[in-house]
Parts: sequence; C-alpha cells; structure tokens
Amino acid sequence: MQEDLVFRVALTGGIASGKSTVARLFSARSVPVIDTDVVAREVVETGQPALAQIAETFGDGVIAGDGSLDRKALRHLVFAVDSARQQLEAILHPVIREETVRQARAAGGDYQIIVVPLLTSSPLKLFVNRILVVDCDEETQIRRLMERDAEDEEQARRMLNAQSTREERLAIADDVIENSGTLDDLDAEVERLDASYRLLAKKQRHGF
Ligand code: ADP
Repeated sequence: MQEDLVFRVALTGGIASGKSTVARLFSARSVPVIDTDVVAREVVETGQPALAQIAETFGDGVIAGDGSLDRKALRHLVFAVDSARQQLEAILHPVIREETVRQARAAGGDYQIIVVPLLTSSPLKLFVNRILVVDCDEETQIRRLMERDAEDEEQARRMLNAQSTREERLAIADDVIENSGTLDDLDAEVERLDASYRLLAKKQRHGF
C-alpha cells in the first residue's frame, strides 16, 4: 500500500489512553494528523455512498428526517447482534481505509501521524512505517474515561474489555509513550519522538 516515500506513523492505544491528546501535540508541531475516527464520521455524512449502502442494508429506519444517519437507531439495530455488526463493518471498514489512505496521500508534511484506535486488527498496519502506542495503566484509563465521558465504572470497564488488550497493542509497538504522568511529561515525550521521526523520515526520503 505504501507507494509514496512519506514516512507514516500509526498512533494507537486503548480508549482514554491519551491518543487524541498526543495527536494534538504532534499537530502543534506542524505534523499532518489523519484520524480514522474522524474519517469514519465523514464517510457516512449525508450524500456519501456508504450511507446509501447502510440504508439499503439496514432499512430507511436508520436515516433521520433530514437525510443524515440516525446513529442511535443504527446502534440499536447492530448492538449485540454479531452478524449485523459484522455486516456494518464490512461496509464501513474498507471505505474508511480507502479514505484514510487518500487523505494521507494528499496531506504531505515531513512525516504523518495516522490515528487508528483498533490498529491490531487493521490492514492499515501495512500502510505505515512505524507504530506508536500510547500506554497507560488501566486504573488511569478508567479514571480518565469516567472523567471525560461520565461513565460509571462498570460501563468504563466494559468499554475497555471490548477492545484489544494492552498486551496485544504493546506486542506490535515500535515506540511506546507511557502516559501516566502530567501533560508536561507527555509533551516532552512527543518532542523527543518528533525529533526521531523527522530523522527517520529524512533517511527514508534519501534512501539510506
Ligand atoms: P483517547 O483519544 O485515547 O480516547 P484522550 O486524549 O481523549 O484519549 O484522553 C482522555 C482524557 O484524559 C482526556 O480528557 C484528556 O484530556 C485526559 N488526559 C490525557 N492525558 C493526560 C495527562 N497526561 N494528564 C491529565 N489528563 C490527561
């Protein structure tokens, strides 16, 4: 999948581990960031072919009065029904992947960050040169999740368990940011990695 010589780093991590925060710190250093969660919303905007496909598969009940996706209705339909969820994923995953690759190829920059929350199971692994995992201990993850989304602890744990495990993520990591400290600590880590990625990107461009 990697046809140009742009150096790409996939950024992944568990829910509320700090991916968006880290992405913002890279972005503040003028690094183009493509976030697959953002792409996932874009591809189902009104008028997009994937939205029509979803309506064909799940019925007009998943389309709101204004023609946009009724997320709640769709969630209700696919929730807890494995085959329906798989059908939805079969529609969405390739479209999200293609759009992510398209945006990355258009984005330029010295190197790029591609945020992929579920990287362990994504073919986008083949599109990147390096994998950066934001890691933090589960208790910190639960606390941040509860603070951010006002979940109760049980729901927060359920959300955590629905993802790939910390071990699965760390097993594919080239670099790990340990995010259990302060935001200043995090910024210092990003500063260090940014310098290292600029160097690796330069080497790749010059072919050595
Ligand atoms: P993700 O994108 O992985 O779900 P976020 O970057 O949104 O995670 O971080 C989850 C929450 O934790 C956010 O409210 C964020 O502001 C906060 N957070 C992240 N890292 C830190 C940190 N080092 N110190 C304090 N709060 C943090």
